[in-house]
Amino acid sequence: MQTLIVVGAVALATGTARAQKSGAGLGPDNPFYAASTLPFHAPPFDRIKDSDYQPAIDAGMARQIVEVEAIADNPAAPTFENTLAALEKSGQLLSRVLQVFNCVTGANTNDALQKVQDYEAPRLAAHQDAIYLNAKLYARVKAIYDQRASLHLDAESLRLVEYDYQQFVKAGANLSDADKAKLKKINEEESTLENDFITKLLAASKAGAYSTTDPAALGGLSEAQLAAAAQAAQGRKQQGWLIPLQNTTQQPDLTLLSNRETRRALFEHSWNRAERGDGNDTRSTIARLVQLRAQKAALIGFPNYAAWTLTDQMAKTPEAALHFVDALVPAATAKAASEAKGIQEAIDAQHGGFTVEPWDWNFYAEQVRKAKFNLDEAQVKPYFELNNVLQNGVFYAAHQLYGLTFKERHDIPVYQADVRVFEVFDADSKPLALFYCDYFKRDNKNGGAWMDNMVGQSKLLGTLPVVYNVANFEKPAPGQPALIDFEDVTAMFHEFGHALHGMFAATEYPSLSGTQTPRDFVEFPSQFNEHWASYPEVFDHFARNYKTGEPMPAELAAKLKKAATFNQGYLLTEILAAAELDLQWHSLPAGAPLQNPDTFETEALARTHLALSYVPSRYRSSYFLHIWANGYSAGYYAYLWTEMLDDDAFQWFEDHGGLTRANGDRFRTMVLSRGNTEDLERMYSTWLGAEPSIEPMLKFRGLKGE
Ligand SMILES: [Zn+2]
Repeated sequence: MQTLIVVGAVALATGTARAQKSGAGLGPDNPFYAASTLPFHAPPFDRIKDSDYQPAIDAGMARQIVEVEAIADNPAAPTFENTLAALEKSGQLLSRVLQVFNCVTGANTNDALQKVQDYEAPRLAAHQDAIYLNAKLYARVKAIYDQRASLHLDAESLRLVEYDYQQFVKAGANLSDADKAKLKKINEEESTLENDFITKLLAASKAGAYSTTDPAALGGLSEAQLAAAAQAAQGRKQQGWLIPLQNTTQQPDLTLLSNRETRRALFEHSWNRAERGDGNDTRSTIARLVQLRAQKAALIGFPNYAAWTLTDQMAKTPEAALHFVDALVPAATAKAASEAKGIQEAIDAQHGGFTVEPWDWNFYAEQVRKAKFNLDEAQVKPYFELNNVLQNGVFYAAHQLYGLTFKERHDIPVYQADVRVFEVFDADSKPLALFYCDYFKRDNKNGGAWMDNMVGQSKLLGTLPVVYNVANFEKPAPGQPALIDFEDVTAMFHEFGHALHGMFAATEYPSLSGTQTPRDFVEFPSQFNEHWASYPEVFDHFARNYKTGEPMPAELAAKLKKAATFNQGYLLTEILAAAELDLQWHSLPAGAPLQNPDTFETEALARTHLALSYVPSRYRSSYFLHIWANGYSAGYYAYLWTEMLDDDAFQWFEDHGGLTRANGDRFRTMVLSRGNTEDLERMYSTWLGAEPSIEPMLKFRGLKGE
């Protein structure tokens, strides 16, 4: 039973999924009907049509419900094999189609696929409920959990027992029917409020755009940016220029706008976007949402919502997450204070006659950055030709560390002509995985970069991993080289770190395989792999001029690497403020009265020593989409937690000889191959020989030991 990826879930009656049982007749002409006969069970993209997905998803859900009911209704006493292993084997048709469907809707979508996605999202949510709230099934899971000490299970099976039990409990499976009904009502109101929040915030952000008819207000913007601002105004049938809001507190144009009044106005538009006392004000929504979430946690048996959320995360408790966040505050705020001094000096040198405010920060920081590093992209990019970075950088590092080799395959069908496929071989030449990469920007592709599986690894199911990386790099004109910047290079190493986590997976059960790990662990292997991009032996191997093959001049390379530590006091402090707000909100007990969000926020930041006048939170509570509606509630800290792990792990490599096969193999055996098969805190500290430390993170951010 693999975790299904479900978006925008609205709980429907479980009867929906059951009703589809009758429509389970999927014919062999559907390419998802049986496992693919291509190498590694690669999806037969040459045969898949848009119209194949919906019938296969529907049939997949129906078939899994039949399988799950057979498990739940089994007259034999519950055993690990007839219940949990059987659950792991269920839903193979659904996984087969959904993994491919997620890939194409993310990377190569169209109207037909979007329609299927909208149609299936609530059905998939209901399907999941139908499994987790099946009382007979839960009784069997619980019986096995209660006897687990006497079952003589191997470590991974025992982990599966604990994992499955935890997921059922978390979903409310152990509640009485009356409490399940209460939970359902809470879940419904919660999802309504989340949707309200999204709707209000969208409208608020749109209305919050800054507009002007005075060209003098926009000094500092380039011709191209002014043209874009004029076009944005025209798009709304307005005169002049318009700067739309981005989701963070700071706005990109604040780096460039030389008119201080404009900066202040744009900043205030951003800061107050959702607090104008009109129909788009989100404060009453979040106050109620917080209260409901606390009630939900209490109903399921947890002291607060953060405790409920964190129960299956690496950190396990809000206390552990808070302790970690708190420990970073002194170094971050001290560095931010010293950066503020530098910025004040720049203001004073220009006879500004004012004290630095949040709307001044990026404008003057950019001047300080230019004076210190003066990096010209046009100078750097010729050293980063995409294919060379891939083969002589990303693949090279994986070869040095893990002995992997790669062979491009042109015989495996792809979903779009830009996609490339590589077969990955282990150090002993055995086939390990299939790796697809799809690096160029397209209009029908989601923004950003990501990794996922098309086929998950499982010994139980006899499957090897098929993984893919997607990005949005500029596609060159035909015949031109694809030159990327260092940020893109880092993104390639990042996504390939996820890919390695997927490709090295060597577990029995699909639910515990590869990247199926908690939020506060999953970014660790990817961020760890980023470190090799600037590691001298790797960097010198790929950073070569695409025309001459010359290495990057040492001075330029040094500047590039040093620029990474610029402004880190500010950047870390604004994220810490957001992480603290998230944890503080979600630590409120069920009995707490309705909060005033502004008062709560001010007090929470003061209490946690993060009330710096010049560093506002990266998100204000009233527009903090991650925690109110994007699945990161009580989880925003995870970005920093995984950073602690990756820096700490890289420090271990540096202390033990760096880029060596011995180090790589040890890391692969003890961490990368193991998915979620062991308590992650123990897995990590067994590998390290100690508890993780925040010191390397402070060092790599440039907050210590300069
Ligand atoms: Zn990632």
